[in-house]
Amino acid sequence: MARPHFPLTSYFLLLTSYFIGACFLLACGSPQSASPSPSQVPPAANAPRVLVVTTTAGFRHDSIATAVSTLRSLAAATGEFTITATEDLSTLSPSTLGSHDVVMFALTTGELPLTAAQKGGLIDFVEGGGGFIGVHSATDTLYDWADYGRLVGAYFREHPWTQQGTVVVEDPSHPATAGLGGQFAIREEFYTFRDNPRPRVQVLLRLDAGSVGASGDFPLAWSQTFGGGRSYYNALGHFAETWTDPRFQRQIAGAIRWTARR
Ligand SMILES: [Zn+2]
Repeated sequence: MARPHFPLTSYFLLLTSYFIGACFLLACGSPQSASPSPSQVPPAANAPRVLVVTTTAGFRHDSIATAVSTLRSLAAATGEFTITATEDLSTLSPSTLGSHDVVMFALTTGELPLTAAQKGGLIDFVEGGGGFIGVHSATDTLYDWADYGRLVGAYFREHPWTQQGTVVVEDPSHPATAGLGGQFAIREEFYTFRDNPRPRVQVLLRLDAGSVGASGDFPLAWSQTFGGGRSYYNALGHFAETWTDPRFQRQIAGAIRWTARR
């Protein structure tokens, strides 16, 4: 049986690069970051390539550093996807988008200064089969661009409850909710939206309104098709502790697979 033949120096270089990568992750991770993985797994051949945008033009969440370090740790530990994280909006070009499978707006805020060509490029990317993921304040972003509102599914209105609440899983069969059970409790900054996206999207999570002393229908995560592509949004993620929560990480990993059609 033929076996690939690597010279000894290749193994040495591979091990060295993993070691440097691990040191980088440990040095950059905040104390609240995900527990370091005991080993790193090279990305699978068809692993989705995720472009993570964390640019803010308004409020800036303290949890951004943990969000990025957690995504990098997850990618390294599982090999299920790769991460390119950027704050530089000039990198949102058709060629950059073309070399990724999914664009994630994580904790973005405000009217990001995108050109008309960049906006058109993002819509074309998703309509042409690409994936989009919005997390938490991705709905507190780009209010003046209606196509973005359609892409992310709704616009943020207010956050009346920052406390422990119960989240109900509406569709446990979706890859982004698998393994969560019927409901779970979490301390979060729970969002409401300008209008209820339920008629336009498939709601995956909703707030158990009674758990925060309220009443009404408050979707918290959803998915939708967008032209030939797929879009997913999750309103959780305010706190660094949410990003380091395996239940949240499982949702994001599932959303990456689903939006990337893996
Ligand atoms: Zn927040």
